Amino acid sequence: MKTVSENLVTVRREIADSCLKAGRSPEEVRLIAVSKTKPASLIREAYEAGQIDMGESYVQEFLEKASSPELHGLPIRWHFIGHLQSNKIKYIVDKVCMVHSIDKLSTARELSRRAAAKNLTVSYLIEVNTSGETSKFGLSPVELLDSAASFFELPAVTLCGLMTIASPDTARAHEEFRLLENLLEQLRAVAPHPEHLTELSMGMSGDFEEAIDAGATMVRIGTAIFGHR
Ligand SMILES: *Cc1c(COP(=O)(O)O)cnc(C)c1O
Repeated sequence: MKTVSENLVTVRREIADSCLKAGRSPEEVRLIAVSKTKPASLIREAYEAGQIDMGESYVQEFLEKASSPELHGLPIRWHFIGHLQSNKIKYIVDKVCMVHSIDKLSTARELSRRAAAKNLTVSYLIEVNTSGETSKFGLSPVELLDSAASFFELPAVTLCGLMTIASPDTARAHEEFRLLENLLEQLRAVAPHPEHLTELSMGMSGDFEEAIDAGATMVRIGTAIFGHR
């Protein structure tokens, strides 16, 4: 068993290699270490190895770990990447640096409402179901383009880009990542502030090379860093 810090070295090197292959600079891709189901002690280990961006998927678990003695007060940037119910937004709105998984206009509205109540502006991404699998969350590409104007007008949130979870097959995943990149371009063309639309959150342990090739700016990697869940 490798340690978390050894795994981080390997993953960072693989990300850099993927960037070189794709003709991109490694600085263009941010690593989010997905720590869901893993204990605060391992997150602390990742933090001490220089990892500041962490991804969590479950509200209750996230709140418990973020306030645990091992992690409380550290300048960790928490990314919320799991399915988010509207009634849970109030618990996390002032504790996350970005919400990656907004999959409904109503959830974005609630995020904006809760952010405004705390005088905050919260960054978020819209999750897109690029595979068409019915088991996955996210707006369809058509829904995204049809409802974009309603997302743009929300006052206390900044739409920074798009997120997707791809099919298990890496060849299909590559096509889905390209689709997400294309959708971001289409969104930019109609956005009042296209300069805010810079992020493509895509790629996990099994498919980050394909995601980086297709333009990922954030990869969300759990298993390759913290081991199997
Ligand atoms: C769990 C999870 C990941 C990390 O997946 P790994 O295959 O363990 O790297 C990435 N994104 C989301 C949305 C997740 O829920």
